[in-house]
Amino acid sequence: MRSLTIFTATGLLSVLSVCGIFAQQGNRPPAGPPPKLTKIKDNLYQVENQAANLDDLGAYGGNLTIYLTDQGVILVDSKFDRNHEDVVSKIKSLTDKPVKYLILTHNHGDHAGGAAKLEAEGAQVIISSEDRENLVKAPNQRWLPALAYSGHAELFLGGKHVELLEARGHTRGDTIVYFPAERVVCAGDLVTLPWDSIPLIVNYGDGGNWTDWGHSINRLLAMDWDVLIPGHGPAINKQQLSELYGRMDQVIDRFRQLNREKKTQEEITQTLIKEFHWGTGPAAGVIPGMMAELR
Ligand SMILES: [Zn+2]
Repeated sequence: MRSLTIFTATGLLSVLSVCGIFAQQGNRPPAGPPPKLTKIKDNLYQVENQAANLDDLGAYGGNLTIYLTDQGVILVDSKFDRNHEDVVSKIKSLTDKPVKYLILTHNHGDHAGGAAKLEAEGAQVIISSEDRENLVKAPNQRWLPALAYSGHAELFLGGKHVELLEARGHTRGDTIVYFPAERVVCAGDLVTLPWDSIPLIVNYGDGGNWTDWGHSINRLLAMDWDVLIPGHGPAINKQQLSELYGRMDQVIDRFRQLNREKKTQEEITQTLIKEFHWGTGPAAGVIPGMMAELR
């Protein structure tokens, strides 16, 4: 562990940005059936949106990972504030033990928005120092995590062991959560699925970029695991991560080529949509930043 900083938490959580795209969702109606609880391993569960599209993301937020121990729950991510009751009822369907730790993979509202309520109910919230800074800078942010780390941290609870690995790419301080005994890893929004409806994106405003993203995906590929739980969409294996990386790498290479040929933003966007089905929805907002990064 390179550093550990403890802060005093104050106030309540307000509206956060979601990948910088869904800043103000309001109380939009649920898009489909509620998220489903899926067993990944004994003692480890994923909560995943059933339709896996942007409407579902807006209504229900990102994926959750629930890790059960004899002394309580380690939870990865918290969805939006408004999803709190569903989050709690899903956990209660598995255990009577309290949530002891909530690890936030990054600062966006669809993952971190429910953290204040879980903290009020007794959970210790942990985020990287870099992404805590993103929260500090976010407008209307009145709640902040009390515990932040840099580089690497470990949690021990009820005989279980969880590693937190600071990475970069989607934001300036994404956390990869590793469950070595279960051979499972949570990637947060470094990995999002499905390709056509919840595209891979980086958030330049929060310190993300594709160069760091590539390093983080290579790091994930070098780790020892069987199942990867992404920030959105279904769990995947290493072969599927490798294919997803290859596909995005082609988009990045093509972008660089078009940018060097001095194509306009519109020309680049249309080419990427045509050739790769990438560049619409949240991805469209990333293209101006890519013109600066990928020269
Ligand atoms: Zn995000």
